[in-house]
Amino acid sequence: MRKSVIAGNWKLNNDVKATKEFLFELRDKIKDTEVEVVVCPPFTSLSTAVELVKGTDIKVGAQNMHWETSGAYTGEVSGEMLAELGVEYVIIGHSERRQYFNETDETVNKKLIKSLKLGLIPIICVGESLEQREKGIQKDIVTKQVISAFKNVNTEDAKKVIVAYEPIWAIGTGITATSAQAEEVCGWIRETFVELYSTDVAQVIRIQYGGSVNNGNVKELMNMPNIDGALVGGASLKLDFENLVKY
Ligand code: PEP
Repeated sequence: MRKSVIAGNWKLNNDVKATKEFLFELRDKIKDTEVEVVVCPPFTSLSTAVELVKGTDIKVGAQNMHWETSGAYTGEVSGEMLAELGVEYVIIGHSERRQYFNETDETVNKKLIKSLKLGLIPIICVGESLEQREKGIQKDIVTKQVISAFKNVNTEDAKKVIVAYEPIWAIGTGITATSAQAEEVCGWIRETFVELYSTDVAQVIRIQYGGSVNNGNVKELMNMPNIDGALVGGASLKLDFENLVKY
């Protein structure tokens, strides 16, 4: 049985003060949930978040990392630096990073390999644009992203990865993929793992859906057989996130 994981991607929101106020309230509300709960604050709020959730059921993830340990990479943060803080998860290849910060399938692969080496749990984001869906090529796009991301990743490591299917047209738009659309693509992703690894591995890898998930649609999406959680943007910034994770 796969344990569902719901992760809140705070994006460029919540400075240290706001992180303290928010998690101080949220941590007592999230207890004994059936799902794994992760919050992903911006870099500057990570250590505050780690301290605040110690001993609770909330885990902390980062929104990006660099694959090098150190060096002349101005503005970057390494996986080692995240691990040192007690961060346990890291989002890799979010469509906003692919779109605005030149993230490519190749850099996603490098980051995935490095995160696994460090014991961080990567959340690998894949998903098609509206134009690609309108052309009917979403399966090709998502399959290619998955195959590229997992290049040279061995079977044991692959099992630890979380994949987030996030159609770009559904992120921050208020338009959610229907549960049938989300399930279809998550099913294709799982089939890809059968081909890349084996049925056993494909049955272990957790696949989230992301894109305008909220209290109203979470239950139906999470009831789909191939969807094992959600990556949540906007709705993770409100204390009502409590009800979302307790769908
Ligand atoms: C996201 O940022 O990954 C996301 C899914 O955002 P939202 O829930 O706001 O659409």
